[in-house]
Amino acid sequence: MEARIEKRVLLAVLAHPDDESFGMGGTLAKYAVDGTSVHLICATRGEAGEVDPEFLEGQSSIAHLREMELRCAIEKLGLREVHLLNYRDSGMSGSADNKHPEALINAPLDQVAKEITEYIRRIKPQVILTFDPIGGYCHPDHIFIHQAATKAFYLAGDPAFKSSFPSYKPEKLYYHTIPRHFVRFNVRLLRLLGKDPSKYGKNKDIDLTQIAGQDFPIHTRINYKSVKTKKEAAGACHASQGGAGLTRGVIRWLLWLMRAKPEDQFMQAYPEPDSGIINTNLFAEIN
Ligand SMILES: [Zn+2]
Repeated sequence: MEARIEKRVLLAVLAHPDDESFGMGGTLAKYAVDGTSVHLICATRGEAGEVDPEFLEGQSSIAHLREMELRCAIEKLGLREVHLLNYRDSGMSGSADNKHPEALINAPLDQVAKEITEYIRRIKPQVILTFDPIGGYCHPDHIFIHQAATKAFYLAGDPAFKSSFPSYKPEKLYYHTIPRHFVRFNVRLLRLLGKDPSKYGKNKDIDLTQIAGQDFPIHTRINYKSVKTKKEAAGACHASQGGAGLTRGVIRWLLWLMRAKPEDQFMQAYPEPDSGIINTNLFAEIN
């Protein structure tokens, strides 16, 4: 069958430097290896991330350090380009960073959605990936980006929305989700150890019981075993966040998931998927 599309283009819309590596990095690397042009929108420079002083030697700021780490990871994953939206990391729920005037969560959702729409119209991806409705592990920036990217997905194809670029309708929208059986296993394990699973992580700001309680249907599974080393190399770029071995909190947990099974799972948000079918290709039915 003749290919309907000339060039496969994939766009991931995420929030912080390291989301691309510790989250869906295996999938991004796998498509890049296959010749797909893979773009990343990253909304912030991870300003609220905890960084040990040794990593900041010779660096002007956490933002600069983490942008460098992000660019390192982009290269390891083989991505085409990263587009930064220049908002500030809002930090986990309840942190002082939430109140910063430049924090992503304090920006109007419509404004961020419009910025993402412009990128979609310019880059013309057939497939868009973002966080699930609870942002993976309930990070406020992840939830915000999920909402903005979803809005932008539909706005891009709406001719009534005027912008610098003509309207363009992407074909598929997916949400990356964390396997629930892993989360539930963790909740049980922590309880057995006498720990509180609703206060997980170094800062006790991750509620695993909340994550375990919300399930999303899985429509596509991507096995990234063939590019596992690329994902690991990208993770190692984020040394300030524990990527090089000094692991902490949620990153340690995500790394554990990754080692357990080299597979990403996605919920298909658009178009409405046929029930009962699990795809192994994000571009299924497009070409
Ligand atoms: Zn993040």
